[in-house]
Amino acid sequence: MTQRRGSANGERANGNVPPVGARSFWLDEALRADPGAPCRPLTGKAAADVCVVGGGFAGLWTAYELAERAPHLGVVLLEADICGAGGSGANGGFFSPSWTGLSTLCASLGEQGGVAYAAALAAMVDELDVWIARHEARIDAFHEGILYARAGEWQAGPDDETFRLLAKHGCADRLRRVDAAEARRVADSPRFVGGVITPDLTVIQPAKLARELRRVLLERGVRICEGTPMLRLETGRPARVVTPAGAVAAAQVVLTHGAWAARQRHFRRAFAVCTDFMVITEPIPALLEALGWTSHMGIADLREMLYYLRTTPDGRIAIGGGAMGIVYGGRIGGRVLTSARLAEMAAHGLTWLFPQLEGVRFDAAWSGPMDVTSTALPFFESAPGGTVHAGLGFSGHGLTGTKLGGKILASLVLRDDDRWSHMPVVGPPLASVPPEPLRWPLVQSVAWAHEAGDRAEEQGRGRGFLPRAIAAVYGQYGAHNGATRER
Ligand SMILES: Cc1cc2nc3c(=O)[nH]c(=O)nc-3n(C[C@H](O)[C@H](O)[C@H](O)COP(=O)(O)OP(=O)(O)OC[C@H]3O[C@@H](n4cnc5c(N)ncnc54)[C@H](O)[C@@H]3O)c2cc1C
Repeated sequence: MTQRRGSANGERANGNVPPVGARSFWLDEALRADPGAPCRPLTGKAAADVCVVGGGFAGLWTAYELAERAPHLGVVLLEADICGAGGSGANGGFFSPSWTGLSTLCASLGEQGGVAYAAALAAMVDELDVWIARHEARIDAFHEGILYARAGEWQAGPDDETFRLLAKHGCADRLRRVDAAEARRVADSPRFVGGVITPDLTVIQPAKLARELRRVLLERGVRICEGTPMLRLETGRPARVVTPAGAVAAAQVVLTHGAWAARQRHFRRAFAVCTDFMVITEPIPALLEALGWTSHMGIADLREMLYYLRTTPDGRIAIGGGAMGIVYGGRIGGRVLTSARLAEMAAHGLTWLFPQLEGVRFDAAWSGPMDVTSTALPFFESAPGGTVHAGLGFSGHGLTGTKLGGKILASLVLRDDDRWSHMPVVGPPLASVPPEPLRWPLVQSVAWAHEAGDRAEEQGRGRGFLPRAIAAVYGQYGAHNGATRER
């Protein structure tokens, strides 16, 4: 097993936040509940119809779709560490639609494309229910929606254009404005002044989903090799995926190794690698009761670096966001995954939103890398010749995105001319990110501007000139870098 997350424990945080762990709380919990059948590293030569590289949700859903639609195909999945070790086992577990960002989606993908993509993502939320029932998957899923709360008058919420588009396309009921009283009935934060609610969201235990997908794939005869990183890809017919102790010859290869793909020349300008941090409290069922947060509805606020938080079946709150780490040149590891400051920023969100929780203890802190494109949209491309495909760039929206992505990638592999292969996210990234050494300072300054602006607003000082100016310049860059795909 390859451990690529730096030291086992990160820097010690001040106060009551523990050091940032090498594995997420979710993954530790899932492995304790069920370590699963062993998936030994690849040794020697293997042959396959399809070789999937990466055992996160993108790779797992792709292998699942292939097993469903073409069960005769031999599929080998290679995972450098263990399935769920990347962002897929570390995230907030918000299996979410993109209704709140509909106007932005339409600006990037055209109105028809944006609406089609948002509707397809929302459909994945219902499909997950069906998948869970069909496979008796134990992933602590609660399809109870989400409150996007305006935690202060300075938080704007979805724009009018989003509501206009929803109404025009018959989706007005998917996003409902609520006032302060209704927002506070979800959970009693004195910060809430209103917000929007959508029913189309399921909170899950993400690492359990990754491990259950792994179980189902093994039952379907997919060969999974953990502890088996792809070292090199040799294109050709067949293509060869070279690993430390062997190689897979495959008619087709699907690259779904997420943020780690940043080190490959072809993807160097496709996305920036950022890290997001989460913390989880000790069980606090009585405090949740006192807040009135007795549902499993997710909550996010509407700042630039939004906080997202949800409860667990044993009465904890997990919260992430508020800040972001930026990885230089896609070199994943070290302090940017173990920063005590970034874990504390996540923890700060809890007591800022709910001062009633002051003094609550946190049982774990962790982080994960994300491949963040200029548009925050994923891309699905096939190399000339059609033997190598990639599905990357899921950014912070990868849960529904990868479920849909598995369908898209399976269609590209099977050369199916269907609604999935015509999704508007098929093609190269809409815009490239700046090269290093420019990228790190640029992305870092935008992250700083958002974080500092949010912090100043929290303290009632307004965003301040510099954060405003940097965010405005970044907004202009987004508007002028040709990041649109009309279909
Ligand atoms: C803290 C955090 C919170 C988040 N919250 C949410 C959320 O609530 N909702 C949401 O929709 N999204 C969220 N995201 C984003 C989401 O987790 C990702 O978009 C999604 O998991 C991406 O899946 P993936 O399969 O592309 O990548 P990953 O899950 O990162 O999988 C890539 C896999 O490839 C493996 N790998 C790397 N290199 C190689 C190699 N050379 N050979 C073989 N295997 C390799 C890695 O070990 C890893 O397991 C969050 C992310 C983080 C970090």
